[in-house]
Amino acid sequence: MTNIEQHPQAKTAGNLFIIAAPSGAGKSSLIKALLARHTDGSMQVSVSCTTRPARPGEEDGVHYHFIDEATFQAKIEAQQFYEWAQVFGNYYGTSRVVIEETLQSGVDVFLDIDWQGARQVREHYPSARAIFIVPPSIAVLEQRLRLRGQDSDEVIAERMAKAQAEMSHYHEFDYLLVNDEFETCLADLEHIVLAERQRMALQQQRHAATLKDLLAKRG
Ligand code: 5GP
Repeated sequence: MTNIEQHPQAKTAGNLFIIAAPSGAGKSSLIKALLARHTDGSMQVSVSCTTRPARPGEEDGVHYHFIDEATFQAKIEAQQFYEWAQVFGNYYGTSRVVIEETLQSGVDVFLDIDWQGARQVREHYPSARAIFIVPPSIAVLEQRLRLRGQDSDEVIAERMAKAQAEMSHYHEFDYLLVNDEFETCLADLEHIVLAERQRMALQQQRHAATLKDLLAKRG
């Protein structure tokens, strides 16, 4: 865990950002690029637990904690998840203790989760900010999903249906980003994150002494 004093948000808890998108919107690349721009330890992406098998190139503990269904159920029972959901047949969940400790240390946390998880988080953490990312058009989405491999039309149709099911919840979020041009979308995402750090309630805590001085009676 990084030392609280090192971060610009020192003296306050970190901000919690929920980022959801259909597969093919570019969510993972955007989060990765944002973190690469901020290497001061002020932001982290949460690593979820899942029961789905690892895909080629995915590493346990890096992309996900890959666990079996019995272990997942035991964690639900023990209330170890901040939120969890079944997404297209597999279970996914965010570890409670890691999120709470990271936020407490003043670090911003990104949750790459689906709309069901987003709802749960917002219910018990109203100051979380939820961002939804969409592709610029349905044609571009299909093109992006096709580019991923030699999949049959049936597989593509299934992915498109899943993407539309996720996108139908876009209006439940605070911010909507359209990922047409990657760098523009990345800049917009960064602006949201940096602006949220300047919220009044946080700034009042960080600058309490300065504000007191500024408003002290003179003469
Ligand atoms: P994938 O299997 O393609 O990595 O992810 C499928 C979906 O599950 C994505 O929408 C992803 O954001 C979501 N997801 C990943 N981790 C979690 C989690 O911890 N909780 C919830 N609710 N959804 C998650």
